[in-house]
Amino acid sequence: MTSTTQSERSEVLQFDPMTGDIAGRAPTSRRLSDLSASFADQQACSRLLAENPVIYRVTQVEEHIGEGQIHYGIGILMPGKVGREYFMTKGHLHEWRPAAEVYIGLRGRGMMVLEDERTGECYAVPLEANSTVYVPGYAAHRTVNVGDEPLVYWGVLSSDAGHDYGTVGVRNFSKVLVEREGQPVLMPRADFLRELEASRA
Ligand code: ZN
Repeated sequence: MTSTTQSERSEVLQFDPMTGDIAGRAPTSRRLSDLSASFADQQACSRLLAENPVIYRVTQVEEHIGEGQIHYGIGILMPGKVGREYFMTKGHLHEWRPAAEVYIGLRGRGMMVLEDERTGECYAVPLEANSTVYVPGYAAHRTVNVGDEPLVYWGVLSSDAGHDYGTVGVRNFSKVLVEREGQPVLMPRADFLRELEASRA
């Protein structure tokens, strides 16, 4: 029998599904200014930057590193919109592209936008309390709050996955989730930008 090292011992964490807090862990906040380029309506974005609201907070558990290890963390995404586009995360790919991830909804009503880097296919799936989303490899993914309360969720993935924010930062997603007559609609970014321009002409 070999002795277990500290890093191999089990760990138990307490978390609050309402606030997204994990006991003893410090969250990282993202304000609008941290992801202002992600939103399509730059006029609406400039107006809201005066308040610069917190858009989301994440608390990551990332100390388990190495073969077979797992990273996990909670996100809390606030309700709100920039123009007609719902509050959302910056979105990312995994540095290790084949790495999948599981999202587990704890509170609220949201959607995930996924875009396959190999095919360009872009689609949205619901992420809500008491539901899970399997994010396949090679998919850029972004969380969007389409409800009127905070959206809280876990994400669980391989410790080898890594985060690539840069590629999405440059390319963004080809579709946007915007409100139309009270409902979330996924539409091509180019079409939405044309609509915006037409409404301001
Ligand atoms: Zn991810």
